[in-house]
Parts: sequence; C-alpha cells; structure tokens
Amino acid sequence: MQLKDPALLRQQAYIDGSWVNADLGATNAIRNPANGETIAHVPDMGGDETRRAIAAADAALPAWRAKTAKERAAILRKWFELIMANQEDLAQIMTLEQGKPLAEARGEVAYGASFIEWFAEEGKRVYGETIPAPQGDKRLVVIKQAVGVTAAITPWNFPIAMITRKVGPALAAGCTSVVKPAEATPLSALALAELGARAGIPRGVLNIVTTARPADVGGELTSNPTVRKLSFTGSTPVGKRLMAQCADTVKRVSLELGGNAPFIVFNDADIDAAVKGAIVSKYRNAGQTCVCANRMIVQDGIYDQFAEKLAQAVAAMKVGDGMQADVVIGPLINQAAIAKVDALVADAVGKGATAVAGGARHALGGNFYAPTVLTNVTADMAVAQEEIFGPVAPLFRFKTDEEAVALANNTRYGLAAYFYSRDIGRVWRVAEQLEFGMVGINEGAISNEVAPFGGVKESGIGREGSHHGIEEYLTIKYLCMGGI
Ligand code: NAD
Repeated sequence: MQLKDPALLRQQAYIDGSWVNADLGATNAIRNPANGETIAHVPDMGGDETRRAIAAADAALPAWRAKTAKERAAILRKWFELIMANQEDLAQIMTLEQGKPLAEARGEVAYGASFIEWFAEEGKRVYGETIPAPQGDKRLVVIKQAVGVTAAITPWNFPIAMITRKVGPALAAGCTSVVKPAEATPLSALALAELGARAGIPRGVLNIVTTARPADVGGELTSNPTVRKLSFTGSTPVGKRLMAQCADTVKRVSLELGGNAPFIVFNDADIDAAVKGAIVSKYRNAGQTCVCANRMIVQDGIYDQFAEKLAQAVAAMKVGDGMQADVVIGPLINQAAIAKVDALVADAVGKGATAVAGGARHALGGNFYAPTVLTNVTADMAVAQEEIFGPVAPLFRFKTDEEAVALANNTRYGLAAYFYSRDIGRVWRVAEQLEFGMVGINEGAISNEVAPFGGVKESGIGREGSHHGIEEYLTIKYLCMGGI
C-alpha cells in the first residue's frame, strides 16, 4: 500500500476523541480478499468498550445539539472536503480490505462523501409547523429535535457509503453516533474518523468500535437505554434479530436489509441499453450489492437475443485483483461467499439451467468467481428466492406483463426493481405494480444522495438520503401554548 498520507491507516478504535486498543489488547487481522495477505490489525472490542463509547456519545450530545445547524454544517462541509481531498488514499484502503476494483472504490468515496455534503445542507432545513388551533386562546407549534445518541451497524460491501448515509444525517440533525463497522472492513471507517477529527468533529460525537464479535458489541448497542436509535444495514436475519433486541428499550430503528431485485426486459425494450443496464446493476462490486439485479426476467420475443448479447459482454469482463487498472470484477469477500455462489449455480444447473458464460470458480482460484450468465432458469431453483451476492445473472422467461409482475413480486424482499420498456403506458402500469421501494426504469444505476433509498417487505424500514433521510434522526415535539 502506498498512501500519500500513511496516517489514514489507523489500527486502533476511535472512542471519545482518542485512538484506543481493546481492554484486553486483543486484535483481529484484516485481510486482503484478493490474496489473503494481512493488511493491518484492529482492536477486538466487546461490551465494555462499547459502553464507554456510548457514554462518550452521551457526554458529547448537549454541546453538539446546542450548536446551530449552520455551525454543524461548517464542520461537516470540511469533513466532506477532506474526504474528497484524500479520495485516492481512501480508495486504496477500500480496495485492499474489500476487493472492489479501484475505479469503483474511487466512485464509492465520492458517493459516500456526497451524503456528508448533502446532509450538512439539509440540516439547515429542519423546519417545524404551526397548526391552526381549535380554540382561540391556544397556539399549536411543532418543533423537530435530534433523537439523541444513535448507533450504526454497517456491512462490508460499501465500507464508506453505508457509514456516511447514517452518520451524515445523524450529525447534521444534532445527534451523536457510535459506529460498528463490519469486521472485514474497519479500516475505511477508521480513516473516515481520522478525517472527521481533522475536520473538527468534537470528541465523543463520532465513535468507531471495531470487533470480530459483532453480537457482543451489538448486544450493548441494542440494550443500552442511552442509545435512542439504531440504524442497521446488512442481512435480513441479523436485521430481524437486532430489531427484536431494540424492542426492550423501544428504540427507533432503521433497517436496510437484503434484496432480490428483478430486472425485467420487455420485448419493446432497447436491448443494447438493457444489456448495459444489466451489466451496471448486476456486476458492480462483483454482484455484492443489495440493489443488484438478482433475477433477470426476460420476455419471450427477445430472450435469446438478450441472453447472447449479455453473455458476450460478460465473457469480456476482466477478473482479478482490484488494484490492477483494467480489472472490472474483483474477488468476492471470502470463501463462504464463493461456496454460496457455487452452490446456487450447481443447484440451477442441476435442475436444468445452462451456463452461457462462466458457471464456475475463476481460474485465478482464491476468492475469484467467473462472471456468469445462466439461461433456462425456473422458479423452482434456489436463485429465484435467494440473494446471490455474486456475479451471476439467472435469466427467467415470461410471456405476458401480468406474468412478469407476478414473478417479480414473488419474493419476501422489496428493495430495488428494474425494468426496460419504451411503451409509456406499460412504464406507468408496471412501475405502480412493482412492490419495491425503488424502481429503475430504463436505468440500472439508481442510488444517489438526493433520492430516498430503502425497501418494503423484508428489505427494511426507513429511508436514507434525500430530505427523508434526516427525518430518521429527528423526533417531533408538539408545543401547546395556552392563555393567549
Ligand atoms: P450481515 O448482516 O452479516 O452483517 C452486517 C453487519 O451486522 C456487520 O457489521 C456485522 O458485523 C453485523 N452483525 C452480524 N451479526 C450481528 C449481531 N448478532 N449483532 C450485531 N451486529 C451483527 O451482512 P453482510 O454480509 O455484512 O452484508 C451483506 C448484506 O447486507 C446483504 O444481505 C445485503 O443485501 C445487505 N445490504 C443491504 C443494503 C441496503 O441498503 N438495503 C446495503 C448494503 C448491504
């Protein structure tokens, strides 16, 4: 690793404005998924350290909350600028610990930073309401206030953006935060905290607790009554568990969970645009995104043509270490991910699917899987219901619009959906009938800081980004003034 600023590679946790070790000195090795090499060690913390981080966030709350939104915005703006000024170093750290190609890592740094910039401004627009009173001697007013101490638990697939989507609005609203990054990717989180400290975020306002024992840290974050809100991004089973754990202290929760996105291509679609959109939506981050197209649902009339063009494009994708300039598919995060993808492909092929591209582990070995396209995929195969989280596109076939919508909605998830059509009536009908929180229409890349990101059904609760994103960190207080 050749960082311009080596001080960004932090190997201690960040609590109450100090870089600290675990109480017992235990550490975890952070490994590069491309080659298994150890990059760094970070503290393996538990409940005690987490309790101290929460106490620090609580102590920092009154002064942070009392600042004006404009004062907080100035600090957040500086943080945004420092993140962008260090984009290259942050991208290198991310590729090394997470594996995504360097160009994608640069993109994520900018995308992640955009939430800090957006919410710095949005914090200035936390408006209240006045309500016409039913009695003449009263005046009714609604104000919005910071929720208080918040906790964030984030996944490894977007090591920066999943943090800034939570911490940006939390800090802008006047909340303080304790973040538990994923065990595989804490280095990006720690680098963010280093830049936050340089930007002038006061001690205790942002704390990062690293661990390889997520249940210990999560147990404290969810049971401690000082924490008033948990924002979690990760898998649906863990999200459900954390939601249950939060019930005892009646915390607010935001959950960004798994997805099983349909990507429908109608006969009237622009096929080349659909192939391009499919590549963006399916193969970014080697298929390890929650909004990844998981099921390609393709109409009879253009099925063969779409399959052929997609297979051609996929076969040309270069697989390898994300630090190499021309690589577009990096490694999966670990061997468990490879085994899961392998099993899903074997199940589909065993039940009659055909691999028209890839279909096996990549020749490079290790955590590399060949980008794959499967045809003749049917609803009885496991890929129809499970989140693949790998570079595999299964192609289902349909005849009518009703059939396509029914297939698309036949999942317990409801995060993102995509479809390609040039018929304006169909565009409206299908967009309204899809049971998903976000719909890409003739578009494979839908995420940005100004739009509400989130799901329905078992994909979660709450929204991140846009003006809706800051509401998650605000409580409503009603003031009734009498005797007027
Ligand atoms: P995961 O649920 O295994 O882990 C997510 C986080 O939860 C990690 O920080 C992990 O350490 C922590 N965790 C695990 N068990 C815990 C416990 N018992 N108590 C407290 N914390 C615990 O998920 P993952 O494999 O890291 O991420 C992939 C999943 O995340 C996929 O399902 C993906 O769809 C989802 N995801 C969703 C979104 C979204 O916005 N909806 C975005 C990215 C990823």
